Amino acid sequence: MTGASKLDPGPDLDMEMLTEDPIEVALVEDSDDWAELVGDSLKLRMPGRYQLRRFSTVTSCIESLRLSPAGCILLDLSLPDADGMEGVDALQLEVPGVPLVVLTGMDDDARAVEAVRRGAQDYLVKQRFDVDDLARSIQHAIQRKRVESELAREAFYDPLTKLPNRRLLMDRLSVACARLERKPDASIAVLFIDLDRFKAVNDEMGHDAGDRLLVATGDRINRTMRPSDTTARIGGDEFVVLCEELRSPADSDRIAERVAQAIAEPLFIDGQELHPTASIGVAVAAGPGAVPEALLGEADSEMYRAKRRNDSRGAPPAPEPAQRGMRGIMADLRDAVERHELSVAFQPIIRLEDREAVGVEALVRWHGTAGELLTPARLIPMAEAGGFMADLDREVIAEAITQVARWNREFRAPAARLGCSVNCSGATIADPTFPGFLGRTLDRNGLVPELLTIEITEDAPLDDAGIERIAEIKATGARVALDDFGAGFSSYASLASTPLDELKLDRSLIAGLDGDPRLTAIVRAALALGTDLGLSVVAEGVETEAEAAQLRGLGFELAQGFLFGRPEFATNIRGLTWPSGGGPTGSPV
Ligand code: C2E
Ligand code: MG
Ligand code: MG
Repeated sequence: MTGASKLDPGPDLDMEMLTEDPIEVALVEDSDDWAELVGDSLKLRMPGRYQLRRFSTVTSCIESLRLSPAGCILLDLSLPDADGMEGVDALQLEVPGVPLVVLTGMDDDARAVEAVRRGAQDYLVKQRFDVDDLARSIQHAIQRKRVESELAREAFYDPLTKLPNRRLLMDRLSVACARLERKPDASIAVLFIDLDRFKAVNDEMGHDAGDRLLVATGDRINRTMRPSDTTARIGGDEFVVLCEELRSPADSDRIAERVAQAIAEPLFIDGQELHPTASIGVAVAAGPGAVPEALLGEADSEMYRAKRRNDSRGAPPAPEPAQRGMRGIMADLRDAVERHELSVAFQPIIRLEDREAVGVEALVRWHGTAGELLTPARLIPMAEAGGFMADLDREVIAEAITQVARWNREFRAPAARLGCSVNCSGATIADPTFPGFLGRTLDRNGLVPELLTIEITEDAPLDDAGIERIAEIKATGARVALDDFGAGFSSYASLASTPLDELKLDRSLIAGLDGDPRLTAIVRAALALGTDLGLSVVAEGVETEAEAAQLRGLGFELAQGFLFGRPEFATNIRGLTWPSGGGPTGSPV
């Protein structure tokens, strides 16, 4: 044994300075003879392969490895500061990522096995020391550790986004809640984030595109958070952020706002521009008593509430009519909007008294490039995800106004003009140039503004700016209706805050009306409410004579539904007579 210092080497003694990707081996051994034997044999047998750092205590080893990690630790089990398993445990705790081989004595089988049970990758019996065995053992430990880490990654990380999964999140959330027990002044926040209309992207652009959207979203969320926070993906399009060390509980709203903004940056996938949005729910816990599952559940419910606000039109996309290259449908639709290739179907709104059409509702349709007819349930999520929903609305509105103006000129005396109802998305209401567009379109077609009704749903932003926009729309002379009343959950709030002219009762209230006393009570109350507010009230989705009779009995004047006429293209509505009224006749669209 030659060459090495026989004194305590301190934390960082290099026994060899070597070349070519040497494996750094941290030897924790208080016996100088042993240290020399190991060092010299490795050096002689495989020059340049290993770089040895020798420590006499576990403490000095940990200090050094924290600053500069090693490829493997060789640990003697009898050290001045750590006897037996103490050293193994301390290293597992403080430098858990480093492979560990323990050096034991001849009759120490039990300790060797225990060390492996506690996380060491291998052991060597000193009395049978052989340098080739040692080298093999080091290699073995490194490989085994790699496999173990890989398995741990699989168990705790989402393979797609590389973010922590639900298991790791719950673990960290439990630790964070436990910490709150000790720190009564501290607070933590949990953000539950769910992408809006993710399914539309997945269905229409393919799973690769969906995956890329998820990865980008995870990345965007993660980048807005501090390193001490946890961003996890816990399911399909659900992400959760755990923020620790909030300065104040109110911070959480600001964080949610930041996350929402980061997600909403336009994103290009397969040459298509997406405008992702997310619904976010926040739950905050301050001080002791927080329960991880309850906190996550609360954030989830808040998210759900936000989701209802964000896509109250959440009708699931219909199944794919013809399996064709799905990747391009959104792009095709965008092109169709730009090239004025959308179709508009019209459904009559009738006077119950004589079943005369007093107006029509315009409903978007599109003959896809493969010839299949697509309905709003598929078109709207795509247009929203693609950020061109407001353009789609304008196309339909312009077409509807042109058509209804023509019908009025051809078939209706001034006293019996046909009204025109059009649907407006939240994106359209948010567009400050929309009222100007409306005014010009009405003018150009010579349609009396009072004949136009703009239908809005709960997805319209009914904040101050939204209310202001609605006032501007009304200033053009057009009317405003609240559509699908009774289907959402905040209808009453919308009623109080919005200057409306009309209420359309959702068909979920009308279907089965006949013979259901509770539904009848609700519908009667809704009619009274609308009437008291000075609004006209339309019952949607009337399918049977019994429902029609009941509505008349309740005092309804206006109704719409398959019973009176299905949505049809203008060419099929000769002389303003619907071919498909009174039941499933004709070829309705
Ligand atoms: P909505 O405004 O409530 O339109 C009425 C929907 O109910 C139409 O579905 C219509 O076909 C259907 N319907 C009418 N009568 C009956 C009936 O008796 N029974 C049943 N089962 N259904 C009936 P459609 O055309 O699929 O439209 C769905 C929704 O998509 C519309 O609901 C509207 O919210 C939206 N939408 C349609 N076109 C446009 C558009 O151009 N722009 C915007 N922003 N939204 C649109
Ligand atoms: Mg409508
Ligand atoms: Mg409706």
